[in-house]
Amino acid sequence: SIGLLAAPPVHELPPSLAPSRLAELRAQSISAWFGKHQVLDRVSLTMPAGIVTALIGPSGCGKSTFLRILNRMHELVPSAALAGEVLLDGQDIYDPSRRLTQARRDIGMVFQKPNPFPAMSIKENVLAGLKLTGVRASSSDKDQLVEESLTKAGLWREVRDRLGAPGGGLSGGQQQRLCIARSLAVRPRVLLMDEPCSALDPTSTRVIEETMTELAREVTIVIVTHNMQQAARVSQQCAFFLASQGTPGVIVEHGDTQAMFQSPQDERTAAYVGGRF
Ligand code: ADP
Ligand code: MG
Repeated sequence: SIGLLAAPPVHELPPSLAPSRLAELRAQSISAWFGKHQVLDRVSLTMPAGIVTALIGPSGCGKSTFLRILNRMHELVPSAALAGEVLLDGQDIYDPSRRLTQARRDIGMVFQKPNPFPAMSIKENVLAGLKLTGVRASSSDKDQLVEESLTKAGLWREVRDRLGAPGGGLSGGQQQRLCIARSLAVRPRVLLMDEPCSALDPTSTRVIEETMTELAREVTIVIVTHNMQQAARVSQQCAFFLASQGTPGVIVEHGDTQAMFQSPQDERTAAYVGGRF
C-alpha cells in the first residue's frame, strides 16, 4: 500500500516562529571534496541569529557547496566528502544520531530557480514541506500555517482567493515566494537561499528582499548572491569567498557588510567589491 512508501508523520509542529527559537549556525573548519577535487579549505563562519548573512564571491568558488553543506545536501552527492562541523545552536547537524529529516526541518533551502510542484495547488505546495519532513499537523493548524507561511513570504494577499489554483500558474517571482512559503511551513530556524533572485525581475527581487528583512527577525538567514548591491541592501554580515587558480575556496574576509564594502581589509576583497574582477 501507499502507506509503505511514506514514513508516517510523527513530528509535532513546532510553535509559531518566536524569538526563543532564534538559532546560531556555526560552520567550523569545513573542507569539501568532489572526488579528488577539493573545493573548500577549512572554511569557518558563524552565522548569528536574527541577521542576514550574505555569501559573495566569483562563480565557482564554492558558495553553493558551502550552503548545501549547511543542511546536509552535500552528502547526497556520491563522490562528495566532507571534513569539519556544522553546529546549530551548538549541536552538530551531522551527528549520526540526528536524522536527516531533523536537519531539513530546522534548516530550509530555497534555490535560484523557483521549483514549486507545478501541478499541485498553491495550498498543497505550502504543505508539501510538512509531508517531506514528517511533520504532523491538524487540518485547522494547516489552514493557519498556509496563511502564516504565505504572509511571511509576502504572497498571501495575491493568492488568498485562489489557494486551489496550480502553483505552476504563478509568475516567476510569485513561484519563488511560494517556495519560500513552502520552506517556512515547517517553521525552520534557519533559511538558506542560493541566489534566490537571480532568475527574477527587479520588482519581484525587491519584494523578496523586503520579505527577507522582515523574516530575519525570526529566522537566521544565509543568502548567496553575486549582486553586491543586494548584499548591501539585505545583509548585516558578509563573507567573501575566493578560489584562486587551482586552490580550493576559502573565506578571504568576513564581517559587518557596510564596513566590508566601505573599507575592505584585504586587497582581493577591495578588487572584488570595487568591480575590478
Ligand atoms: P559557486 O556556487 O561559488 O559558483 P559551487 O559550489 O557551485 O560554486 O562550485 C564549486 C566547485 O565545485 C566548482 O569547481 C564546481 O565545478 C564544483 N562542483 C560543484 N558541484 C559539483 C558536483 N556535484 N560534482 C562535482 N563538482 C562539483
Ligand atoms: Mg552557486
